[in-house]
Amino acid sequence: MIPIAKPFLNHEEKEALFAVLNTGMLAQGETVKTFEQQFAKFMGVKHAIAIVNGTAALHAALLAHNIKEGDEVITTTFSFIATANAIRMAGATPVFVDIEENTFNLNPDLIESAITPKTKAIMPVHLFGLPAAMDKITQIAEKHGLVIIEDACQAHGAEYNGKKAGSFGTGCFSFYSTKNMTTGEGGMITTNDDAVAAKIRTIINHGSTEKYYHQHHGYNYRMTNLAAALGIIQLQKLEHFNSRRRENAAALTAALHSIPGILVPELSPGHVYHQYTIRILPAFGKTRKEVVQYLTEKGIGHGIFYPLPIHQQEAYKECNHILFPVAERAAEEVLSLPVHPLVTEENIDQIAEAFHTLQ
Ligand SMILES: *Cc1c(COP(=O)(O)O)cnc(C)c1O
Repeated sequence: MIPIAKPFLNHEEKEALFAVLNTGMLAQGETVKTFEQQFAKFMGVKHAIAIVNGTAALHAALLAHNIKEGDEVITTTFSFIATANAIRMAGATPVFVDIEENTFNLNPDLIESAITPKTKAIMPVHLFGLPAAMDKITQIAEKHGLVIIEDACQAHGAEYNGKKAGSFGTGCFSFYSTKNMTTGEGGMITTNDDAVAAKIRTIINHGSTEKYYHQHHGYNYRMTNLAAALGIIQLQKLEHFNSRRRENAAALTAALHSIPGILVPELSPGHVYHQYTIRILPAFGKTRKEVVQYLTEKGIGHGIFYPLPIHQQEAYKECNHILFPVAERAAEEVLSLPVHPLVTEENIDQIAEAFHTLQ
């Protein structure tokens, strides 16, 4: 069985966890501080604030930018539901736009027509590890005085024009078990803005700057030293993990690109392949359902990210009538294949063989 995702853990993570257990300081403390400093350095930003998970990161980032009920946030309909849910958690309204055909990311040319007097922010998602079109998005945000909050939950270490995804605006990361680096559950917010960073620190700690004195409403969103201990080790390995993903992605592309009806993802140097996502077109001759069935029989892990765009979800009834044809077609055609660091050359051959047999 080749799983679609598997965390890469060894004795280093175990030793780091035991070291924290031996101190007896399990909740937030020095280990979290160290992880934050190292993540900020890696990202080339002033501040990194550790948090319980990626959804909380998006929520706290929105609150720190004063986004509230009555405000609108422009985002993509083709993402994990957490992107939109976080906007709702802040009391604001997600305004969806369609995606680009070949990147699966927010189409920057559709943003301006979605802007209203209520728009406060743009939330691009660097989906599957490929950065969104940050040059155009930054230009639009500057022109209209909008905040950028990046959902970089799938893009640890990804780069756009040599700059880290998550360092263009306020960056939000997840360290869930399937992500490019993990702390089990966990997250991080990155920013160069001192005031935003200070606000986030109070939001994640019950709105308090001094113990038992609370200036604002807040939450308990603090990361534990145990999670941070894992994060420190995983961050040291991240570049290696990402280069393994790139190698596997390049090998799969070499094996699959000439098959009629299989559309391979763009190979971009800044892509970190959180998912390696192909499209199955009618020209392939087999439906995606048939492909999925065959891969299952062969023990080849796979995933459909995502089978339903957010605007078509039952939980987003108020948006169900809107048409986003590019995202809707992507949802019907996408199929993700394993490229995580534990996928071997032999595994790649097995995956390639499956597609050549099916063809
Ligand atoms: C994983 C993910 C999140 C949420 O992160 P959690 O840590 O699971 O809360 C948000 N957005 C995207 C695009 C994700 O992939």
